[in-house]
Amino acid sequence: MANSIKIALAGNPNCGKTTLFNAITGSEQYVGNWPGVTVEKKDGVLRGHKEVVVQDLPGIYSLSPYSTEEKVTRRFLVDENPDAILNIVDGTNIERNLYLSTQLAELGLPMVMAVNMMDVVKKNGDKIDFAKIGKALRCEVVGISALKKEGDMEAAEMAVALAKGGEQGTGNGERGGGLRKLPDVPHVFSGSVEHAIAHIEESIQGKVPTRSIRWYAIKIFERDREIIRDLGLGVGDMKHIEEHIRDCEKELDDDAESIITNQRYDFIKKLMDKSLALNEKHKNKATLSDRIDKIVTHRILALPIFILSLCAMWWLAVAENGPGTVLTDWANDEFLSADGWHLPFTTHEVDGKDFDAAQEDFAKAEATVKAWEAGEKKASIEDEETGEVSDEWDIDEAAYKAAKEVEEPDPSKYGVWVPGIGALVSAGLEKVGVGETVKSLVVDGAWGGVATVLGFVPVIFIVFLFLAFLEDCGYMARVAFIMDRLLRKFGLSGKSFIPMLIGKGCGVPAVMAARTIENERARRMTVILATFVPCGAKTVIIAMFAALFFREQWYVAALMDVVGIAIIILGGIALKKTRFFAGEAASFVLELPAYHMPTVSGVWHHTWNRLKGYILKAGLIIFPACVFLWFVMHFDWSLTLLGDEEIEKSILHDLGSWIAWFFAPLGFGSWQGAAASVSAEIAKEQATATLGLVAANMGGATTGANIQAFFSSVSAFPKLAALSFMVFNLFVPPCMVAIAVTFREMGSKKWGWFAIAFQLFVGYVLALNAYQLGILFAGGGFGLWTAVALLVDVWCAWMVLRPDRKGGSK
Ligand code: GDP
Ligand code: MG
Repeated sequence: MANSIKIALAGNPNCGKTTLFNAITGSEQYVGNWPGVTVEKKDGVLRGHKEVVVQDLPGIYSLSPYSTEEKVTRRFLVDENPDAILNIVDGTNIERNLYLSTQLAELGLPMVMAVNMMDVVKKNGDKIDFAKIGKALRCEVVGISALKKEGDMEAAEMAVALAKGGEQGTGNGERGGGLRKLPDVPHVFSGSVEHAIAHIEESIQGKVPTRSIRWYAIKIFERDREIIRDLGLGVGDMKHIEEHIRDCEKELDDDAESIITNQRYDFIKKLMDKSLALNEKHKNKATLSDRIDKIVTHRILALPIFILSLCAMWWLAVAENGPGTVLTDWANDEFLSADGWHLPFTTHEVDGKDFDAAQEDFAKAEATVKAWEAGEKKASIEDEETGEVSDEWDIDEAAYKAAKEVEEPDPSKYGVWVPGIGALVSAGLEKVGVGETVKSLVVDGAWGGVATVLGFVPVIFIVFLFLAFLEDCGYMARVAFIMDRLLRKFGLSGKSFIPMLIGKGCGVPAVMAARTIENERARRMTVILATFVPCGAKTVIIAMFAALFFREQWYVAALMDVVGIAIIILGGIALKKTRFFAGEAASFVLELPAYHMPTVSGVWHHTWNRLKGYILKAGLIIFPACVFLWFVMHFDWSLTLLGDEEIEKSILHDLGSWIAWFFAPLGFGSWQGAAASVSAEIAKEQATATLGLVAANMGGATTGANIQAFFSSVSAFPKLAALSFMVFNLFVPPCMVAIAVTFREMGSKKWGWFAIAFQLFVGYVLALNAYQLGILFAGGGFGLWTAVALLVDVWCAWMVLRPDRKGGSK
């Protein structure tokens, strides 16, 4: 891009870079209240300035070369010569943030420091003297609030103005170009250090861009190997430089790197004494954050608190009579149904009866007429779902005559009646006058599948809402911290846990987030394990089984998360003991952001951004997949259309039957179970849609009843078979897209297949245990597969518990 101005957004993790980036470029990048969210740098065009490109860089604490984020950011700043730096600083944590700022200032690029979160700073009553900081760091300092969009554009435009001004006489930022006057950069070190730095500057003159010479000199003083290598400094050069460094180290009795770090901190501390006035009351508030942390990161209490919060989430989402269930039942039975529903608060009685009572009367009248005409003396009504007789009464001629008079109640007379979407689809098709086959395709096939998935959207909504709240208030960062501590005990790095937290939303970004991990073995291990925490799509599966089989046992849903985390830990331990993954755990520095009350718009934005994807997916993926499944279910191999009773001849029936044996030990070894499990690889929620389709002829009145009937037809322990089906689909390899990304991130086919095989093994073994050991505990006896399950468990336990390999191959 010729003539374009590049502005780099740089700052600590979690200081609001992405929020600012979105505000000034109008993009929608992911904003997360934990470090490590922005891994790749992203660019966008500044609003109202077509020629200005803004780069959102990963958050870092320092310009040292220790982590991927640091490397990416440093490479960009040093090699790509942005025209100005927009340095974001968290105003509520300014002292720590300035550590990076001093380094950025040394780069000699035009810089604007935007002190963010000023809304919070002001609310706390703290005062920051921007002029003093600006003078000390030789840059422009302004206060902004990225979240409230206050001062954001002004800060960006100031950076643009500086960049334009900076072009003068700097040869348009070319590396090492021409003679330039040295930029004004802050001097933060003591005399002897400055002396050494001056000598180093002298010996590298001409080898580095003039304006950044001080930064290079300091890095060389710190013996930064990457820089020394890049500059190609010979032994001769270094010998001279080393003398100066050693003199300085001797004088200050410390190593060079620590000298720089300590003096930087001293400098910042003094600057803060002059320019930061904390409100006394707020100081106590900071300790409130600390006090909360004492409890939620407590050695013993931390994990139970985390599990409790998971339980609270699932209780809200799936417990009988909880908000999630009420909403799901409404969505399934009314909103999306082939009937419809009354708008709340609009219903009223007609002839002293409400709509339900009138409908019941009508059903009774219908039954009376039918029974009398069949020559019977008793009429009865069966329960729709269970098929049990729920009411029985005597009838006679008079009753028959009276019953014939009863008219079907018109729902619109009882209140404002809203037809269900299913009813609208059917009515629409009838109006157009399509044939029965097309109607079946649309109503039973395509719409049926989509509706099954959409019916459970309320559950994912609640899960996402709850997670967004935990994330925005700052608790999720604590979870990463707790998990780090836990994983470290087992020689695993907590760094792996951030991708897994992201995986609660979707496995695809989770697998990609593993890129932050330096060490190749640890990264591969994280990719393999990241998708075990049930994602949003898998939440649809959990929601369905919770609604159909575990209404009283909402904790089964929460258990799926706990099992996911347990698999990550146990799987990690087992993998680390193999020679492919042995090695030191990477270090992980995690800053805990202060707790704050999440904003309604922030939480809503997060939730909606994720939820939107699932609704779109229902249309873009589930819909065509269901159309395809309907075809293979309604045609045989010679492509003749089959009647409803002829499903046994269908293509899908054959395909499913060929692999059904694989699922037999898991309790759902039938063509339907096989078809549902395999099609779930398209997208996980397809498992529920396919089940609804393939169980359609089970004779139940609703999709749910059909699915229940299906599990009763395949196993004497339908609840266990259902549990096993759910577990299998949650823990086997994730959907196609995630698998593709896994292959890419694993870096080779061999490792990609290893990941898939590992996940398939875990899913199979868990389902086998759920079913076979479930039967054993339910008193169903001991069989061959019970023995197999136990043997595999013993082997797995050995893989986890066996002694560690010494050191491992490096
Ligand atoms: P990044 O890691 O630097 O990209 O930071 P993010 O943009 O992801 O923001 C981290 C957190 O800080 C999010 O929860 C934001 O909502 C919050 N945040 C960002 N800017 C502001 C602000 O000006 N005021 C307040 N109160 N919160 C902010
Ligand atoms: Mg970010």
